[in-house]
Amino acid sequence: MAEYNLIKLQKKVRKELDAARYQHTLGVMFTAAALAMRYGADIEKAQVAGLLHDCAKCIPNDKKIRMCKERGLEITKVELDAPYLLHSKLGACLAEEKYGIKDPEILSAIQWHTTGRPNMTTMEKIIFTADYIEPARCKAENLPEVRKLAFHDLNLTVCRILEDTLHYLDSGQGEIDPMSRSAFRYYHNLFFETEDKGHSLTS
Ligand code: FE
Ligand code: FE
Repeated sequence: MAEYNLIKLQKKVRKELDAARYQHTLGVMFTAAALAMRYGADIEKAQVAGLLHDCAKCIPNDKKIRMCKERGLEITKVELDAPYLLHSKLGACLAEEKYGIKDPEILSAIQWHTTGRPNMTTMEKIIFTADYIEPARCKAENLPEVRKLAFHDLNLTVCRILEDTLHYLDSGQGEIDPMSRSAFRYYHNLFFETEDKGHSLTS
């Protein structure tokens, strides 16, 4: 029997998001379910995590900061400069507070979906990946390749997404959270043992 009322959760989260963000959210929910099937994770939990991963995304930045402070969530310098980064940890907090989610597997997948982190759980990797490859995404050049790879090797996919994201952000498109670099270093080392000295991303 289903533990979560997905319809009810969908109705509730829809009110918090703009139309495009809701469309993206549904894409992440379905893609996460497909990845959970492939990697033997809990399909329902993957759907809930996908559905709620961006639940704090449409809150204005000043309000995000205020809400984090009210909840005693730590705000780093990078997050203060780029408050959109806060939507992950605030989202995990609201998933529990407003949507009644208590499962740590779901909450951590929401918390780490933007930056990733070293040694992620399968559910964290599934949401991180689904967020990047869901059908409505269209910006990244390598999407067809990453979409295919996602159903073959999840660790390699995470490594690839982190690398591409860091490249994109390094080219001046946004603030880089140090956690993304740590995560990339971790996954890069899983596949490429020798330290690639010339690699600016690992610095
Ligand atoms: Fe997000
Ligand atoms: Fe997202």
